[in-house]
Amino acid sequence: MRGMVLNELNIVHSAVVDNVLIDSDLNTINALIKYYIKLGETDIVGITEKISVTMEQCSSGYVRANYKEYIEKKSKAVIKSYKKYGNDALELIQVDKVVITKKELEEIDAINDKKIRKLAFVILIYAKLQLIINPNSKGWLNTTSSNIIKEAKINGKLTDNLFLMHELYKSEYIYVPINAKKTSIRCDYIYEDSEVAIEITEFNEPIHYYYMHLGQKWKKCLECGKWIKVRTKTKPQKYCKDCRRKMDAKISAKAYHNNK
Ligand SMILES: [Zn+2]
Repeated sequence: MRGMVLNELNIVHSAVVDNVLIDSDLNTINALIKYYIKLGETDIVGITEKISVTMEQCSSGYVRANYKEYIEKKSKAVIKSYKKYGNDALELIQVDKVVITKKELEEIDAINDKKIRKLAFVILIYAKLQLIINPNSKGWLNTTSSNIIKEAKINGKLTDNLFLMHELYKSEYIYVPINAKKTSIRCDYIYEDSEVAIEITEFNEPIHYYYMHLGQKWKKCLECGKWIKVRTKTKPQKYCKDCRRKMDAKISAKAYHNNK
């Protein structure tokens, strides 16, 4: 999901234990700050040093000076919210699944425009992710309209697409406060008590779960994880076109080598 970090626990484990970066420098640093403060380090210099060492172990190109100021500033902010909210402020985010219920899907299906239904599906996922990260978020999203439109895979002009979002506002699916300083959107069709309809466990382009709800068949490439459309008449694919091509090239290179 664009604009969201959902696997801080994996990011930290990978950086500290395996010395491997699985996300951007910034997302890794943000997670490490919480991690080291939770371990009891509350001295800004100490935190900065520990993070710098970890980052250097993961990446030979890491330049301390580029992030020093950022780490200091961010650490101060995290310590401040730790003092205010306690351990919750240091919780490493790890979201493994989001559940969409039957009633929620019915609400989305009732919308009379295909593009708007896709937007509504994505908005719901963002809202539910935020509810997992912060149970007090009450349906408010922590993302931008632009991210929502991209995740819904809707092409066209931004102004046209914002107009589609406005339709959701007019029909009271979402609430958008007027005069808000930044984009704030609240999703008003969350029904957690209804029965489970879809379990989302893949957050890379989750709009595909909506396509599957419409009856399309999709699965993930076993090699790179890209979504591939399953065509029923041919034999089931395991890999996307790109990976398939690379594998074929490897096989023919090997065959050539063996035949020499
Ligand atoms: Zn692939």
